[in-house]
Amino acid sequence: MRKITADWIFTLATEPLKNGVVILDNQGTILDLLPNAQGLEEVEKLNGVLCPGFINAHCHLELSHLRDRLPQKTGLVTFIKNVQQFRNAADEEVLSAIEKAETEMIANGIVAVGDISNSSISFSQKQKSNLRYHTFVEVFGFNPESAEAIIERANNLLRAAPQTASVTPHAPYSVSEKLFKLISNSELSIRNPQLLSIHNQETIEETKFFEDKSGEFLDLYKTFGLDISFFQSSGKTSLQTYLPWLGQAKTLLVHNTFSSQQDIDFAKARGENYFCLCPNANLFIEDALPDMQLLMKNQLPLVIGTDSLSSNTSLSILDELKTLQHHFLEINLISMLNWACKNGARFFGWDDLGTIEKGKRPGLNLIQNLENLSRADEVKLTAASSVKPIKLCKNYF
Ligand SMILES: [Zn+2]
Repeated sequence: MRKITADWIFTLATEPLKNGVVILDNQGTILDLLPNAQGLEEVEKLNGVLCPGFINAHCHLELSHLRDRLPQKTGLVTFIKNVQQFRNAADEEVLSAIEKAETEMIANGIVAVGDISNSSISFSQKQKSNLRYHTFVEVFGFNPESAEAIIERANNLLRAAPQTASVTPHAPYSVSEKLFKLISNSELSIRNPQLLSIHNQETIEETKFFEDKSGEFLDLYKTFGLDISFFQSSGKTSLQTYLPWLGQAKTLLVHNTFSSQQDIDFAKARGENYFCLCPNANLFIEDALPDMQLLMKNQLPLVIGTDSLSSNTSLSILDELKTLQHHFLEINLISMLNWACKNGARFFGWDDLGTIEKGKRPGLNLIQNLENLSRADEVKLTAASSVKPIKLCKNYF
């Protein structure tokens, strides 16, 4: 049994506990939470804030070997061309990068991951269950004629995926209406019927393409030799075009860098949509950030992802939060932890993770080097803030 106290415990389920104590068994299950350490013996005293393990809601393990390989701030269209050009590599190189990436996530306090897969190469690592994974088997295919063959291949991949998995569309500009509809009707997604993910409004070029068939995406299709004469612009933004094709599925909208109030209203009126922020990838690729005031004003269910090492220099949820803190000074730590822990667990249906509550086994992170520790709702991250996962047992999952 362990008894641990810190300046604050942000349980994300109760009021923050100043100098509270969390009691855990040897497997990391929470046995009790106490308001103070009075009368207790052998209490470990730590400096900083204790919070649950992080949920990385958006990652691409299979692109980990592209770390430090692609130029930054090129814009999304050039970035996609670069990924396609450089992603092929020997299996050993890819597998070794995947293993290292997972080790890095564990060291950074991540306990569970929503991971995008276009192939089965990450499955052997996920099979080891060092981390909890939901695999999004992601499909591309803008030409409607190939939709059936694509979904069949994806369903085969889905059957082979360890832990939980579902078939998911890549992005509005890379998936045909027909393929969108096949995905949302895919019977084989039954292992997690409600979970979809899509790269949404990551660049203004996506809006131009859907509103009037203009912008840089035309050049991308030309590069890939795809005749898109069949495509007619909808006159609406991408989100307002494709969301009705997805039915009522629970969907993770990833990036949202160029989403407007009208888009948010549209999404709120349809299905259960979560909004995933990957700020470091947005700066890496587009040198832009989502409109945080807009997203927060709308009280959206926000979650946090790292995206892949092809567009990030680390796989660290804390690094994403530090970037948000740096650019949006008014956000407090406790709000961001709700996104990074509680909301992520809720999206994926991981009821045992995301909050520090009796009976749960959420993992425990210690965040240090903070500002304004005297009041819970004023605690902020600094450039020097760091996270240390509390080692609770050998094999966590
Ligand atoms: Zn991504």
